[in-house]
Amino acid sequence: MFVLLATTILQLGVVIISGSVALLADTIHNFSDALTAVPLWVAFVLGRRVATKRYTYGFGRAEDLAGLFIIAVVALSAVVAAYQSIERFFHPQPLNNLWWVIAAGFIGFFGNEIVAIYRIRVGQKIGSAALVADGVHARIDGFTSLAVVAGGFGVMLGFPLADQSSACSSRP
Ligand SMILES: [Zn+2]
Repeated sequence: MFVLLATTILQLGVVIISGSVALLADTIHNFSDALTAVPLWVAFVLGRRVATKRYTYGFGRAEDLAGLFIIAVVALSAVVAAYQSIERFFHPQPLNNLWWVIAAGFIGFFGNEIVAIYRIRVGQKIGSAALVADGVHARIDGFTSLAVVAGGFGVMLGFPLADQSSACSSRP
């Protein structure tokens, strides 16, 4: 969560100085992915609590609730990112600081890859298929951040819509 939050803050700075909607979509995505660690954390702590008189089977179901919450966050962030990129199609704005956009795409890639390696390693160690799957998710997100890099180069080569196109790829 902290690695993804650090990635988000760095990317947000570049969104502000560049106006890149692809990077904005990627930043929203990474931020919502970072936030999903919170309900998982709560569920994990609750799930380890012993059963009480009222909850005789314990609190293991908290993880299911966390799963539903995560789906809601992912859906919401997809709607926000889609809205932003469609809005920009109708109100195009020139991009600034393209090299920073490209650098921020690489930051997104490396941030997600660090998270992926960590989650897969810990997931295999404790035997959690969910954590391994989330690690694979982060790895794919890293490749989506590379779409921001591709969009940046596309704009440089004279294709201004390359940035919006990359924005659309940000929610696999
Ligand atoms: Zn993701």
